[in-house]
Amino acid sequence: MSSTLDLAIDLIGRQSLTPNDAGCQTAIAERLKACDFKTEHLDFEDVHNLWAKRGEHAPLIVFAGHTDVVPTGPLDAWQTPPFTPSIRDGYLYGRGAADMKSGLAAMVTAAEQFIKNHPNHQGSIAFLLTSDEEGPGINGTARVLQHLVKSGEHVDYCLVGEPTSVERLGDTIKIGRRGSLNGTLTVYGVQGHIAYADSTSNPIHLFAQPLADLCSHKWDHGNEFFQPTSFQVSNIRAGVGATNVVPGALELMFNFRFSTETTAEKLKETVEEVLRKHHLDYTIDWALSGNPFLTPTGKLSEAAQAAIKAVRGYTAEVSTSGGTSDARFFAPLGAEVVELGPVNATMHKLDENVNVDDLSDLSAIYEKILVSLLA
Ligand SMILES: [Zn+2]
Repeated sequence: MSSTLDLAIDLIGRQSLTPNDAGCQTAIAERLKACDFKTEHLDFEDVHNLWAKRGEHAPLIVFAGHTDVVPTGPLDAWQTPPFTPSIRDGYLYGRGAADMKSGLAAMVTAAEQFIKNHPNHQGSIAFLLTSDEEGPGINGTARVLQHLVKSGEHVDYCLVGEPTSVERLGDTIKIGRRGSLNGTLTVYGVQGHIAYADSTSNPIHLFAQPLADLCSHKWDHGNEFFQPTSFQVSNIRAGVGATNVVPGALELMFNFRFSTETTAEKLKETVEEVLRKHHLDYTIDWALSGNPFLTPTGKLSEAAQAAIKAVRGYTAEVSTSGGTSDARFFAPLGAEVVELGPVNATMHKLDENVNVDDLSDLSAIYEKILVSLLA
């Protein structure tokens, strides 16, 4: 049984750019098989997924995570190569150090240690790992869960090792996430010579007031668990590049991060109401990346709080902030979902890193959660 640090180093050394797995799942499967997990590789198209389970009885606690990482950005901007893990001043550097190979390593060593101490534990432990969390998220966790539901699996608890901590390990856990809705809007005008504006209709001018209305609209006030819904424009484009042409169309891309106080349908209706009020000629395409979810706090979040308190001496803030994660696929199954992992300050950045001391503490936290639920 090697340490969490050794396993994290092994995983970070594997160049698993999404949707590649680079052997991470096989390495983890070998470790789990050695403690009597039954493992199944469920690959869909170019995505690798691992389902590993130990035990037949309820309750089932699933450790969920991903082995893929985001691109490195310019290699020469890294202090040390991103796939050559290196330790400097108490921090382990490399792509995936925070998101989320340290979390994976801690889950594995926590399960190993727990099983060593409690070989006849109650319930069941499983791992669901995918190489498609940073990509489109179609052939990963969502697909595996469809398969598992069909074969009669029921997930009671899901612990996701995504980096949720803000300043110190365990200061924040997540029990839900905001929804994400994307819109692509085209506003039509009439193109023409800028000196003959009477015979044109300028879509930039037409859209000025509706844009102001959308930006100043209060979509909701949020609630105890969610920040207010946020509307952000990511791209706006119009013009043919010449100084003397009124453009014929304006294109806008925007995103909502939304709370449980509204719905995707309500947001779409409100946007279109604003556009119609200003008599715009437009087309709009919508893409829902995920609905907001909130899981009821129960035994898992209690166990997580107690474990953080025991290992680190403080309790975590309970949050729903940040981007989407695969936790959203577990919530509709009725599982209690908690996300708890390393400090996220450097995730997706150059010189991504994790505090070395946090690795064994995270493993100890996960192990204590298993003890609370299954010992
Ligand atoms: Zn992640």
